[in-house]
This record gives sequence, C-alpha cells and structure tokens, in this order.
Amino acid sequence: MKYISTRGQAPALNFEQVLLTGLAADGGLYVPEQLPSFSRDEIAAMAALDYPQLALKIISPFVDDCIPAADLKTIIDETYAEFRHNAVAPMVQLAANQWVLELFHGPTLAFKDFALQLLGRLLDYVLERKHQKVVIMGATSGDTGSAAIEGCKRCKNIDIYILHPHNRVSDVQRRQMTTVTGDNIHNLAVEGNFDDCQAMVKASFGDRSFLPADRSLVAVNSINWARIMAQIVYYFYAAVALGAPARPVAFSVPTGNFGDIFAGYLARQMGLPIERLIIATNHNDVLHRVMTTATYGRQPLAHTLSPSMDITVSSNFERLLFDLYDRDGAALADLMRRFDSGDISFSDTAMARARELFSSHRVSDEQTCEQIASTWRDNEYLLDPHSAIGVAAALAAQLPHEVPVITLATAHPAKFPQAIKSAGLDQVVSLPLHLKDLFERPERFAVLPNALSDVQDYMAKSISA
Ligand SMILES: *Cc1c(COP(=O)(O)O)cnc(C)c1O
Repeated sequence: MKYISTRGQAPALNFEQVLLTGLAADGGLYVPEQLPSFSRDEIAAMAALDYPQLALKIISPFVDDCIPAADLKTIIDETYAEFRHNAVAPMVQLAANQWVLELFHGPTLAFKDFALQLLGRLLDYVLERKHQKVVIMGATSGDTGSAAIEGCKRCKNIDIYILHPHNRVSDVQRRQMTTVTGDNIHNLAVEGNFDDCQAMVKASFGDRSFLPADRSLVAVNSINWARIMAQIVYYFYAAVALGAPARPVAFSVPTGNFGDIFAGYLARQMGLPIERLIIATNHNDVLHRVMTTATYGRQPLAHTLSPSMDITVSSNFERLLFDLYDRDGAALADLMRRFDSGDISFSDTAMARARELFSSHRVSDEQTCEQIASTWRDNEYLLDPHSAIGVAAALAAQLPHEVPVITLATAHPAKFPQAIKSAGLDQVVSLPLHLKDLFERPERFAVLPNALSDVQDYMAKSISA
C-alpha cells in the first residue's frame, strides 16, 4: 500500500514512513493511493467478529507488509484491551431510529483513545525495530493532549511534549495530562493561549535544530494518517451491528478537524452502505458554511461548551477535497495556496459530489444544553456537549424512518460537568472508577513563559538519553 500527498509533489510513502510523518513535504496530507474494499458478503461476515478482530481485518490492508500479521494482531489486541467495556464501542438506542455509539470507554474518556492508543503502540513498535527514538510535540486545548499522553506513556522510544495554555484548560482535562507519570512525559503549561501553543509547535516543526541530531519530530494531531485509519473500524462495527450491509445507515458526527467524519467517508468508499454523513458543528461552523454556501473561509474563533470542536479551519477537509477534485494534486495545491490568503469557493461539481453524501447542521450552546436536557428527560441518558450536538444534528436531519442514524458519542459527560450544569441538570456526573481519584493524584507540569526559546530550551534539556 502506497500513500500519496494531496498536493501531488511529495514522494509516495509506505505505511511505516507515513506513520512517522506529519504533513507531507509539499504541505499536503497523505492518503492511500488506493483503498481496500470489501464485498457485501465480506461485510455481512463481519457481524461475527469482536472489536479487535474487526480492527485487524480493516487495518491489515493499510499496514500491508510493514508489520507481520501476528505482531499487528498483538498490538491491536493490547490496544483495545485498554477499553473498559467488553464491547469496546457499545451502542445505546434513544428512539426507534436513533442510536448513540459510545466511543468514550478508553483511558481518557474520549474517542481520541481509539486512534492514539493504537498510534503510540505502532510507533514504539517500528521505532524499536529501527533502533530509533523520536520526540512527539503537540499543542492541546483539551482532549488530544491527554489521549496522546496516555497512548505514549509506556513507549520507551518516545519523549512526548504537550503544550497547553496555562489556566485555560478544564481541571479534568489538565489533570488527565499532568497526573500521568513517566520520565518520557512532559507537560508544558505555556503562559499564553492555545494559538500561541500551536504556533510554537508549528515553528518547531519548521526548524528542528534545537533537537539532538538523532531525534526526529513526530506529530500526533489528526493529520497523522494512522489516526484516521483506526477510526474507520467503528463505522463498520456499528453499521454491521444494525444490519448492514442489508440495511443502510447514517452517521451524525460531532466535527472539528474533520478527522473522525473523514474516516466514515473512507468506510463508505470501502464498501459500507452509508446513506448519509451528517457534519455536526458548534458555533464554529466553517464546514456548515462550506455545505450551505460553497465558500471556505476563516472566521474568528468562538469559545463554546464543546471546546474540542472549537476550530477555525478543519485540516482534514483537504483530504476530502482531494477526492472532490478528482485527486488532482496540482488543483489542490492551487486551491490551498489561495486559501492561505483569503476565502475560496468550490466548483459546482465538487459541491454536488459533497452533497450527495454529506449534510451539515450547526448547533448553538443554547441548543446543546436543550439537547442534553431533553435526552435526559426522555431517556435518562446523559450526553456530553459534543455528543449532544451530534444528536441534535441527527434529529434535525429528518432522514427516512427506515434509516437508523448513529450519533458518535465522542466524550464521556463527566469530562464536561460545566455543560451539564448549564443544561440545568444537577446530576452529579461521576468519573468512571479508574479516574475516581483523579483529583487526589499529584500533578506534574512546568509553567513556561510564552516564548519559543524557553520552550525549546526546556525540551533540549529534558530529552531522555
Ligand atoms: C476531537 C474531538 C472532536 C472532533 O473530532 P475531529 O476529528 O477533529 O472532527 C469531537 N468531540 C470530541 C470530544 C473530541 O475530542
């Protein structure tokens, strides 16, 4: 299996290379040159598989001969053994044709564990084999940081540095990062905002000279191909559980960077009968504006009750655009270059293709709270604010009654007690058992000035031998 860049100018890579690469050298994102596909019979047979077995089936063709089958099986089995539900991704029914796929039973209670638990293990495996060590650097406003740290905490060949804006992430989110112990884990609280953190990470990828010569820098944000790959699995898992391929299904996906929903698009390209993919956004509605006006443009960031979806551009959207523009790398490079300096519009053909499968819905904070409250009233089921946006969008989509809509529940409600309160529920949402003592555990993080040189000096001094 070869991976190619959406901008057509970077070299093609194999799985191992793409695992260790973030952005392609031409500024594009890597995608498979050709997708594996499954026949209806093969999909029907997936109903007999448990989650790790299905993951192995879906993931194997992407990894190809880069990892021996038995080793890949061990890595996948260990990954999903970390999840605290026997079904790994269980489903809950809210109404006749409304379902919730719970993706929050991993160590940090958000769907990012599905990808980052696997990514950490895959990286450590290939690094061990290459006798190589790397540095992971990332910025987080919440979920990604903790999931990445949990995913890497046992990795001998990785030093991980996660920058978060000091005093600007929730207590639960900060503690999920800073209470993880391990000499290879470094939490840096930067006296700035999230954009400052992200700018430092970007600058460090641009000039890596502050690192020892034998260390490369690896990104674990959602542009990493392996993250998308891991997320394809649960679309198959849920659809097959509800009767696919005989019965088509739809998914509603709380969307930020378009990584999660892009995995759903790939599942469909691989043969899964998905009738519709609903892009559910909060006030930061860049994709809803694309779908309704064919214009892609930045607007100021709004802070909402669903912080993990607070973005101004959706980086993985470029991967879909690549297909919408017939995989023409030169056209994409031109489009994205123009986007750097202002709003762009998409062609009628591209938009028509997008609208065949995707629809979108924007949900305000107020509607988010209403959804949390009404789902509680009707079902005694507590949604986190991100998942509530998904459910609200699923209900608004008004799909034919015979098409079940599966909303991806991307986080556990205990991560966002503030939103639950805003919804007028006094429910004390308790953390799952493995995190019960989160507020008693000692924290470890360094507070650093909002300056690139301080951050890079700190990193250079603390990297493991
Ligand atoms: C990251 C995240 C999202 C958005 O996922 P994307 O892949 O960026 O679209 C939604 N909900 C939660 C809880 C998240 O952590």
